[in-house]
Amino acid sequence: MVQKGQIGVTTDNIFPIIKKFLYSDHEIFIRELVSNAVDATQKMKTLADVGDFKGDLGDLSVHLTIDKEKGTLTVSDRGIGMTGEEVEKYINQIALSSANDFLDKYKENANAIIGHFGLGFYSSFMVSKKVEIVTQSYKEDTQAVKWSCDGTPNFTMERVEKADRGTDIILYIDDDNKEFLEKEKIESLLKKYCRFLAVPVVFGKKQEWKDGNYVDTEEENVINDTHPLWRQKPAALKEEDYLKFYRDLYPLSFADEPMFWIHLNVDWPFNLTGILYFPKIKNNLDLQRNKIQLYSNQVFVTDSVEGIVPEFLTLLHGVIDSPDIPLNVSRSYLQSDRNVKKISTHITKKVADKLEELFKKERSQYEEKWDSLKLFIEYGMLSDEKFNERALNFALLKNMEAKYFTIEEYKTLIESTQTDKNGNLIYLYATDSQAQYSHIEAAKEKGYDLLLMDGQLDTHWMGLLEQKFEKSRFVRVDSDTIEQIIEKEEAAKVELSDKQKENLSEAVKSQLPTLEKTEFTVDFKALGEHSRPIQITQEEFSRRMKEMAAMQQQIAFYGEMPDSYRIVLNVEHPFIKGLIRKSGEMEKEEFIARLSEENRLKQLVELALLSGNMLKGEALSNFVKRGFESF
Ligand code: ADP
Repeated sequence: MVQKGQIGVTTDNIFPIIKKFLYSDHEIFIRELVSNAVDATQKMKTLADVGDFKGDLGDLSVHLTIDKEKGTLTVSDRGIGMTGEEVEKYINQIALSSANDFLDKYKENANAIIGHFGLGFYSSFMVSKKVEIVTQSYKEDTQAVKWSCDGTPNFTMERVEKADRGTDIILYIDDDNKEFLEKEKIESLLKKYCRFLAVPVVFGKKQEWKDGNYVDTEEENVINDTHPLWRQKPAALKEEDYLKFYRDLYPLSFADEPMFWIHLNVDWPFNLTGILYFPKIKNNLDLQRNKIQLYSNQVFVTDSVEGIVPEFLTLLHGVIDSPDIPLNVSRSYLQSDRNVKKISTHITKKVADKLEELFKKERSQYEEKWDSLKLFIEYGMLSDEKFNERALNFALLKNMEAKYFTIEEYKTLIESTQTDKNGNLIYLYATDSQAQYSHIEAAKEKGYDLLLMDGQLDTHWMGLLEQKFEKSRFVRVDSDTIEQIIEKEEAAKVELSDKQKENLSEAVKSQLPTLEKTEFTVDFKALGEHSRPIQITQEEFSRRMKEMAAMQQQIAFYGEMPDSYRIVLNVEHPFIKGLIRKSGEMEKEEFIARLSEENRLKQLVELALLSGNMLKGEALSNFVKRGFESF
């Protein structure tokens, strides 16, 4: 007897909504059906384990088959199956009740429906004109049933014969979705969503190359790895296992091997497993994102994890698996989910634990990795307050001799030498050992230590550390004369008349080539007769703001400001002394004209520019030409 009925849907017709609004994601029906089949199979295993089922379990694989002639795709399992009453309850009533509530609530805004609830079994209607369920419960003395529904709320149910326990879900693929009858399409979807499911999923036979063709072998084509590495006990795994799994996960990336990894294995306060790999990151923040895959009980959820795990962790690779990560919900929903937030906080903590452990136990290895780790850790410290607190213990500073120090150690190293007369501790740094060479040498001569800060985030990071430090500053070695940067005593007074200052400034400026978006000021310092007559420095604050502006939208206007440099004349140098004398004896125009004729001042200014790597193009060419002319 064929039973007829209406699915328990109060909203007029849910199927057009399923089809229309879930269209963009319609491939997920595969995940839904296969995970239902896997669930039913696992329940069967559990029943056998606890002794509630005493029969023969048989082959428990889930099978997918395509019948092109009939236009069907079938998912078959040998799980617990359903009785007629159970189909009535789980398929006709319960499965759609959550969808129903939601539809009632959001009738006006159908878009909000997308991805806010799982449609589970009913997602099959996204691609089918008709769906049949043929199922035989494991329970003794029950009759197999066939349920059929053609995409209206009307269904039929009848008794049938079915040899095996379990469920076949038969999709009659509709004309718009013929691609789901293609072997390659199904295979790629299975690889995406079902690759690590806990029950073998079989799709056709394995193939081999024979006489110029691929032909089926006898062997079943199991598409998944039922015991993925992250579910195994860390103690039983070797380094090669982790490296192999990494290559399996990213077969198409020819990236370096990961530096190290964290095997997450948490039972409390929630269940979380996974493996996070630290790739070698150099200077590119964008390249390697979205490599982490999220799973819920071995079912693939998503690989676009931005907003789900903390931003700096998106630079890591690997998998995270937790039954607390909800399936079939949209990204925005995932991002605001409380469990997901807890998980992400927890992962941050674990990552910090691992880094700290590595640092404490294997410091030399940690130092070797630092240059690659640095970008990641700085990013974490800048973006996550909790991580920042932890990382202050294992973040390193690297000096120009390529020695590494913790922040605390470095402070101890420089405290006695680099504290200025006002009690400020000055962290000297350079970003380019070539361009800043003369400044670096001057600092070294004073016995000072210099940090190398050539990383992409260093400028931001130094700003962050300065907020934590007391009475301490980072200063780039070329931002002033070294005597000014770390002022040990009151600077010697410079006694020049306004006229002398003005004449000299103007004369120096008249010798400068015009550089775009560049400003110069002239300053006078008593630096001793043996020090250089002239130096070019760039003030720390505005330079840093410009560097930060390049990466931060909010302060982008700083990027438009000109670079401002200071030309410092050493009033105690004999040549400058001579200039000063003359500058007081003449009017400005005459003074400038005289100096221009002599060419000596020009050469001096150009030498200063040259040593600051700022003499370029025509000015450089003229400078060289004049040099050659003296032969
Ligand atoms: P969910 O899986 O989230 O509960 P579904 O709509 O996918 O929602 O399925 C509804 C119910 O139908 C399941 O909870 C299960 O009881 C039953 N069911 C679905 N597929 C199968 C299957 N292959 N074997 C046995 N029971 C199934």
